[in-house]
Amino acid sequence: MSRDDEARYGRACLLVLNVCPFTLRHVIDDYSLRHARSLSLCDFLEKNKDRLFHLYKRECCCGHKSNKTPMYQSQWDSLYNRNISTCLNGKRIDCPCKYDGKTSATANVMDVTLCCLVINNICPGVDIYHIKTIREIRNKLIHAEIARLDLLTFNRYMNRVETAVCELAKNVSTVLHTETLEMIDELKNRLMDPVELRELRNLIIDQKRFTDLEADVSNLADDLNQTRHEVAQISTSVIEATEKVTQISASVIETTEKVTQISASVSETTEKVTQISASVSETTEKMTQISASVSETTEKVTQIKDQTQRELSQMKARQGQEIKGELKEQLRPIQQESNGILNS
Ligand SMILES: [Zn+2]
Ligand SMILES: [Zn+2]
Repeated sequence: MSRDDEARYGRACLLVLNVCPFTLRHVIDDYSLRHARSLSLCDFLEKNKDRLFHLYKRECCCGHKSNKTPMYQSQWDSLYNRNISTCLNGKRIDCPCKYDGKTSATANVMDVTLCCLVINNICPGVDIYHIKTIREIRNKLIHAEIARLDLLTFNRYMNRVETAVCELAKNVSTVLHTETLEMIDELKNRLMDPVELRELRNLIIDQKRFTDLEADVSNLADDLNQTRHEVAQISTSVIEATEKVTQISASVIETTEKVTQISASVSETTEKVTQISASVSETTEKMTQISASVSETTEKVTQIKDQTQRELSQMKARQGQEIKGELKEQLRPIQQESNGILNS
């Protein structure tokens, strides 16, 4: 019973890992030649370089950023060669300008995962629902905890994958459809010996390890890119800050110079004010002295005036007496004469 479960797991794996890629490679070839009117797969890859590059790396020189990068480096390297060109957009990051589609590229180098990626992204019109089914069953088998399948699960998996891959083959040609069907029939009746099963299981384990490793490397590369980006940003802001500091420092020097000039002018003005103030004090003192001297003079003038008036009154009085006396003297004989007359 257990041996049968193991054989079923082995057959299902062979369907997904051998038959599916065979048919999907024909789907890609047919699409590139018939629908995309490319001269060859290399020509088709060249036309879709940027699109596929964004599955491999998040950013490129075109400025567009992708959300997911499901393509591993080994997958990218199986399709493109590194050339010696520099970026056409003058960027210094890894970008499609630095790669060429491999002239030796044939769909045969693609495993089932890469076939699904290519069809999903650069073969519009091919039924993605079938691709989804193939990928889903592939992942279930590769990531299974135990390498066994019971009859029910096996039949479900086989039927779903068979329908998907046959529908895709039918859309290419009846020849491909027939070939695919024959391969599946052969697989269903195939005897799986224990050695072959062990080898298959080891192959899957190795592939899974390799995929995990590549995922780690890809994540590390993403982190490194992110860090590089952040360092570049920080360095830009440091340059900006330095520029601002230089500007501020120049403006501080200018301001200091102005302050020195203003301070010198203030000193000069203060000195002048002090001089003017001293001169005002001096003038005030002189004015006070003049005013005192004017008061003194006024007093003296008043005294002189008073004295003069006094002397004048005295003089008048004296002169009056004198005149009176003189008149008396002059009148006396007249009086005596008149008295004599009267008495007689
Ligand atoms: Zn791009
Ligand atoms: Zn470029």
